[in-house]
Amino acid sequence: MEFAFTEEQQMFRRMVRDFAVSEIAPRAEEIDASDEFPSDLFRRMGQLGLLGLPFPTQYGGSGADYHSMVIALEEIARVSGSMAIILDAHSSLCCDPIYRFGTESQKQDYLVGLVRGDQIGAFGLTEPQAGSDAGATRTRAVFDPETDEWVINGQKIFITNGSIADIVVITAKTDQEKGTQGISSFIVEKGTSGFKPGRDEKKMGLKGSVTSELFFEGCRIPAANLLGKENEGFKQFLATLDAGRIAIAAMAVGLAQGALERAVDYAKGREQFGQPIANFQAIRWMIADMATEIDAARLMVHRAVWRKECGDRFTKEASMAKLFATEMSERVCRQAIQIHGGYGYIREYEVERMYRDQRLCSIGEGTNEIQRLVISREVLET
Ligand SMILES: Cc1cc2nc3c(=O)[nH]c(=O)nc-3n(C[C@H](O)[C@H](O)[C@H](O)COP(=O)(O)OP(=O)(O)OC[C@H]3O[C@@H](n4cnc5c(N)ncnc54)[C@H](O)[C@@H]3O)c2cc1C
Repeated sequence: MEFAFTEEQQMFRRMVRDFAVSEIAPRAEEIDASDEFPSDLFRRMGQLGLLGLPFPTQYGGSGADYHSMVIALEEIARVSGSMAIILDAHSSLCCDPIYRFGTESQKQDYLVGLVRGDQIGAFGLTEPQAGSDAGATRTRAVFDPETDEWVINGQKIFITNGSIADIVVITAKTDQEKGTQGISSFIVEKGTSGFKPGRDEKKMGLKGSVTSELFFEGCRIPAANLLGKENEGFKQFLATLDAGRIAIAAMAVGLAQGALERAVDYAKGREQFGQPIANFQAIRWMIADMATEIDAARLMVHRAVWRKECGDRFTKEASMAKLFATEMSERVCRQAIQIHGGYGYIREYEVERMYRDQRLCSIGEGTNEIQRLVISREVLET
């Protein structure tokens, strides 16, 4: 068993950290305050090859392993949760199903531009009546043989990158009689008649990331935009979410790591009772617990990636990593605020933003209650 990162992975981490520290970190507060999508930083991620890390070079990707993907997410989340979720939704949730289930021409037409950062991607699964029960989708797609098109009607909500996306992968019911076996996936382009973004939500955190409603009213897309086989959408999105859950776990680790580092700096600099608060056992124990929990979560993330890279089933490991890392992140960010005392509650100190940003991690890509369902099903085999 090997616990060390390879030389290449370590160099990659340094490269992403340099980018995150020099280009994202100075903007993180402004992104949070302005609540605007940082399109220049998104394009920079494309130039650096971060948007297509796990995809082969023939599609413009970096041909890296999935360990590199989670390293990048962790390093970016360490300074900005918003930039991490933008990358996660674009790469893990939109590019990945196109790469995995798309035809060669879909990959050439969509994946290449997405990976370069010329286009922004989103993944539309959630609907007003289909959240945790994503198989209950009411969006419908009906095939029109006369025009060789699919006609889509329905609504999606809470879609990351939604209103600004050029390409959205969505799910829709294609066979009303077949339940979850009657769902298919489609690629919809911005500007298609009948496809309209709705409002962008005002959120607690992850502010630079756009979260939108999407409407489909008689939206006609070519037959060629069916992604994979008809009625296999349910299987496809479960597979997409397995990998996505590792990604959001990595984001939670990054946010916690960022909060820990700020807490350590603060504890060394802040003096009370004539000495740095880092001398007090109460503070030292909090820091010890934070560091230990982050380490455990990071190991779980890379263990899940390792199984994925080996081609083994990793549903349970991905859910466990997501469950533990996201709840760990909340505890760590809370303790980081506690160590900052009153200043931790003040906007000027980054731990306040990190605490708000991490809160999504135990909700998105399957709530932690759903992760517990998945894990218990795997353990109990029932
Ligand atoms: C900022 C943000 C970004 C998002 N980005 C995307 C995106 O890009 N694409 C996308 O498709 N979706 C996205 N989502 C949606 C997200 O995945 C859903 O919000 C999430 O899956 C939960 O669905 P829901 O909100 O409908 O909650 P509900 O399903 O209504 O759940 C409400 C509560 O009930 C619990 N619950 C539900 N069912 C069960 C059960 N069987 N057993 C136990 N407890 C249960 C839940 O755990 C939760 O506590 C995003 C959401 C947010 C807030």
